[in-house]
Amino acid sequence: MPRFDEERKEMVALLRQRGITDERIIAAMSRVERHLFVKEPFINRAYDDTALPIAKQQTISQPYTVAFMTQELDPQPGQKVLEIGTGSGYQAVILAELGARVFTIERHMDLFLQARKLFERLGYRIATLCGDGSVGWSEFAPYDRIVVTAAAPEVPEPLLNQLAEGGKLVIPVGGLDMQKLFSITKTADGFDRKEVYGFKFVPLIGKKGWNGK
Ligand code: SAH
Repeated sequence: MPRFDEERKEMVALLRQRGITDERIIAAMSRVERHLFVKEPFINRAYDDTALPIAKQQTISQPYTVAFMTQELDPQPGQKVLEIGTGSGYQAVILAELGARVFTIERHMDLFLQARKLFERLGYRIATLCGDGSVGWSEFAPYDRIVVTAAAPEVPEPLLNQLAEGGKLVIPVGGLDMQKLFSITKTADGFDRKEVYGFKFVPLIGKKGWNGK
């Protein structure tokens, strides 16, 4: 049996146990080899349900967090989905596996370059940008879905502006220690905001993020 197949099955079984019910997400996470997104010293822990270090003091999100946020985001095939915080590229690939047209932004050049290379090697067509995602990516707006994988001090307005009507933004917001996950839907006459869960994320740095200039 190919390397890590057993571990990946166990990871997915745990996600089910923890309440992930969307079969498309279960299937995508069963297919994608998470060990390709982590560095050598952590490869044996790639299927543990934990965040793991990548470069630049960043982390690849915990599998449960990826599954939960993706389930909340509920991306449909063919939809335009913008991700802020490419990191390892794992979340972007899960979105691509769900049939979304994925756009992803990373502020660290090395992470951006590594992820771009990996997407190419694995054959994914994902649009990548190195820059400050707290102001979105206006060139390709509006987006049906926007997911932010780093914590923001408040909801960046440009992201709300770049949502299509009926579109949804999933974003962790709060202090540096603890955040709440918000799911915000753009309606004909404003925004429906609901609080979904408490999580801990690395900070969103940028003009409309932390330490903004
Ligand atoms: N989605 C990633 C999680 C990476 S952690 C994965 O699946 O691995 C969050 C990432 O957000 C980090 O790589 C961090 O560098 C990045 N980030 C933080 N602020 C950002 C900003 N303003 N624009 C783009 N990326 C940002």
